[in-house]
Amino acid sequence: MGEHLAILDAVLANIRDAVVLTDGDRRLVRVNTAFEALTGHGADVLLECVGDHATLTFDLLSNAMSTADGGLWQGKLRCADGIDRLFDITVSAVNGEEIFPTHYLGLVRLSSGEDARRFGHDELTGLPNRDIFLDRVDQSVLQANRSGAPVALMIMGLDRFTLVNDALGHGAGDRLLIEVARRLRQCVRETDTAVRLEGDKFALVMNIADVDDSVIVAEKVLKTVKEPFGIDGQEVVCTFSIGIAIYPQDASSASAVIKQAENALHHAKVSGRNQYQFFSRDMNRKAKTRLDLEARMRRALANQEFAVFYQPKVQAETNRIVGAEALVRWLDPENGMISPGEFIPIAEETGLIEQIGSWVLRRSCEENKSWQVKGLVPVKVSVNVSARQFRARNLLDIVSGILSETGLEPRWLELEITESMLMNDVESAVSKMTAIREMGIGLSIDDFGTGYSSLSYLGRFPITTLKIDRAFIADVDTNPKTAEIARAIIGLSRGLNLEVVAEGAEVADHINFLRDNGCSTVQGYYYSRPVPADQFERMLTEGVLYHT
Ligand code: C2E
Ligand code: MG
Ligand code: MG
Repeated sequence: MGEHLAILDAVLANIRDAVVLTDGDRRLVRVNTAFEALTGHGADVLLECVGDHATLTFDLLSNAMSTADGGLWQGKLRCADGIDRLFDITVSAVNGEEIFPTHYLGLVRLSSGEDARRFGHDELTGLPNRDIFLDRVDQSVLQANRSGAPVALMIMGLDRFTLVNDALGHGAGDRLLIEVARRLRQCVRETDTAVRLEGDKFALVMNIADVDDSVIVAEKVLKTVKEPFGIDGQEVVCTFSIGIAIYPQDASSASAVIKQAENALHHAKVSGRNQYQFFSRDMNRKAKTRLDLEARMRRALANQEFAVFYQPKVQAETNRIVGAEALVRWLDPENGMISPGEFIPIAEETGLIEQIGSWVLRRSCEENKSWQVKGLVPVKVSVNVSARQFRARNLLDIVSGILSETGLEPRWLELEITESMLMNDVESAVSKMTAIREMGIGLSIDDFGTGYSSLSYLGRFPITTLKIDRAFIADVDTNPKTAEIARAIIGLSRGLNLEVVAEGAEVADHINFLRDNGCSTVQGYYYSRPVPADQFERMLTEGVLYHT
């Protein structure tokens, strides 16, 4: 008998099918390694009979096996811990020489398609889905309450997945997700649960001994995903942002710990992606402020609490106003004036920037047109365009719509964009910029010198103006190195036949330096702070700058 079992073991170990074997009395004899790999469990697995919802111990499974009538029984099985997949099992009775079966042999396979999905699986990647995730978090929290060992929850988002989808198509996007899921599975232990929540969002639920365990896993995940993927013959590189929250340290319930992990994920994304971030109380406070600010911004749009301020651009030789930059202000009835630095980044994240940006553009064009209608000297107004606005497919339609509605000629409008917006996808940026230029609108690179632009691209961008960042102006009169950089940017613009504007000139020495070095157009507190429309109109009318 011993010899037979040794042969049996060798056979079972070498076949790919997942096999469970009981004796004639339905006592478990063997499960093979393929069975363990498939179900994630050894011989002690509890199984659930899906058909009649009875929970089965292995005894009951073997009971079912023994009813293998006419030598064959088929059914569905599910691991009773509720998290794993649905299996098909086919049982045959082995009679040998005897009247009664001496053994029962079960072949186990993963159920396909519809059934799997119905039982909590994501069809594309085969990972458990959100239902299973919620269930698993609940169970882990209960287990943590019993054992005292913490639960780590990681929620992970692929960075810039939409770019892959847009560039290579949805088919390639799907294949990437399948590959990501496969790598993710490799990063975790059998007892951990990896799930796909939705789209490009995944999660891991782990019972851990120590917070450091989650650091190790997070680092492993980041590293594994960062390796290039081969998708349709193309090399695709993508990264993860990961938010981690720990129960009970960060939250007192399953739903709260999920929320905290989401907050941490958001923090990882805005901190530059390709990283993990742990939840912290401070983050929670920030998240609350963010939500609050978003709701207030929506109300502010509806209640028209935004205004455009104008900061003159002045010709240094003559002190004449030759243009203005439109700068949005939020006049909050409760908190007074809120500066764009505080709300633009959040508007950008939430997408509200598209509405706010369109409003600013329309308002500036209307007001500029109204000054011209009053017979004032025409000036060019520059409007800042955020990254999200620039990327939006309908940017050109919005701009041309506003120009025709307000009747402003395109040459009196300039759009300010920053270098970093252009570097992600140079081709599409160039074609968009070309279209803007063809409409007759000016294009300026704002904060020039602070981004990562490579000078080799500068010649390819159809721009009209370079705007020297105020960081280079601030100590231009005292720091010879900064002065040299400012001179170089001025020289560069001249060489490329571009206009050059300096921003942030605060004192007479700045103005003198700029004038002496060939930058004739200057914007800064020296001449005027950004002012409300009526005040700017007065400056245009009287031709006088009000020093502030
Ligand atoms: P920016 O486009 O570089 O605008 C120049 C900023 O420098 C303005 O700040 C302006 O008030 C400030 N500034 C001008 N002269 C001086 C000076 O002499 N000294 C100093 N210290 N600062 C000076 P503001 O109005 O707070 O705007 C900050 C940023 O917010 C802008 O930087 C721009 O990136 C963004 N922003 C403002 N309005 C809009 C808008 O309508 N849409 C978008 N997307 N972004 C906007
Ligand atoms: Mg600007
Ligand atoms: Mg600027």
